[in-house]
Amino acid sequence: SSLFAAVEMAPRDPILGLNEQFNADTNPAKVNLGVGVYTDANGKLPLLACVKAAEAQLVEAARARGYLPIDGIAAYDKAVQALVFGEGSPLLAEGRVATVQAIGGTGGLKLGADFLKKLNPTAKVLISDPSWENHRALFTNAGFTVDTYPYYDADKQGVNFDGMLAALNSAAAGTVVVLHACCHNPTGYDILPAQWEQVIAAVKARGLVAFLDMAYQGFGDGIQEDGAVIGQFVAAGIDFFVSTSFSKSFSLYGERVGGLSVVCASKDETARVLSQLKITIRTNYSNPPTHGAQIVATVLTTPALRAQWEEELAGMRNRIKKMRGAFVEQLKAAGVTRDFSFITTQRGMFSYSGLTKPQMERLRNEFGVYGVDSGRICVAALNEHNIGYVTQSIAKVI
Ligand code: PMP
Repeated sequence: SSLFAAVEMAPRDPILGLNEQFNADTNPAKVNLGVGVYTDANGKLPLLACVKAAEAQLVEAARARGYLPIDGIAAYDKAVQALVFGEGSPLLAEGRVATVQAIGGTGGLKLGADFLKKLNPTAKVLISDPSWENHRALFTNAGFTVDTYPYYDADKQGVNFDGMLAALNSAAAGTVVVLHACCHNPTGYDILPAQWEQVIAAVKARGLVAFLDMAYQGFGDGIQEDGAVIGQFVAAGIDFFVSTSFSKSFSLYGERVGGLSVVCASKDETARVLSQLKITIRTNYSNPPTHGAQIVATVLTTPALRAQWEEELAGMRNRIKKMRGAFVEQLKAAGVTRDFSFITTQRGMFSYSGLTKPQMERLRNEFGVYGVDSGRICVAALNEHNIGYVTQSIAKVI
């Protein structure tokens, strides 16, 4: 028989599969609320003005394209550290953070996962229930057994914090706990600073390894506000992991710009950890690509562009918030009596709408409104042109 005769067809990626279905739909009123992408008031994927300006500078400079260092552009790594840990963080002055450029936030997670697998091969990984659908697959592929901690509470329309904490407090030492730093995907529900303190206490007491996934810094309440949780972990004096993504905050999805930062106990430890991360990079893809990281480094370190970015990011954040409010209002206006005000307490691009799988199927099949079967909708894809149609369609399936 042929070499690949026994190869099975892998399941389609549920969300990218939804996209294919959306593209094939001929309904002119169709709306895509499935994929996690921010679109502007006109439903277009934005190219940020700060990105355009940085790109123009880079074209002008016309630099040759040599290989980057294995850990990426030094100025980029430094800018990531300053963003994540704060410009004046003593941790950075002490040289206690190993940061590498990564292929998007996904790449940062995978580098961390591979490193952790070598460090502690028998450790388990805990992800939130539910979580970004790639968390489980990524850590499973890195060789881990992946389990969940309770997170979403459908009845309460919020976080089952007691359940979450109980799971952490009964996890074995060394267990890797993947935590959404802000703008939880898919639910939109974040925990409060005081609750983070309890999570941190559990991580510390049980000897767990915290891995913060920060894919939406600036989409919740602000760059500083969303990053505050990092400061809480630092203040607790524990070592932890942070993956960073600029896919959303710079609207640079296709450039694959991200990073991994590992907080270590000493400068010497940091050097050793960095050396191991570099081996993982070297043996997987040798070194990272130039273009996207160059753009982000330029924007973050050029004061005028930095200010422009912060303004544009605030624009995206505020537009999403406005859509959350309008969504609740227009559902009411469409005659929906169920209270949807929880949508405005959620943060980031997504909302667990509480709609059921049959309702989501009807929305898709009868109205061309595409969300995920779990009821997750991308609020960042709503705009003044489609929100009326979406809310009226929802009113018809409820
Ligand atoms: N983590 C979470 C929670 C995400 O939602 C995403 C993107 N959807 C990622 C990581 C991956 O980001 P990137 O596209 O930069 O790899």
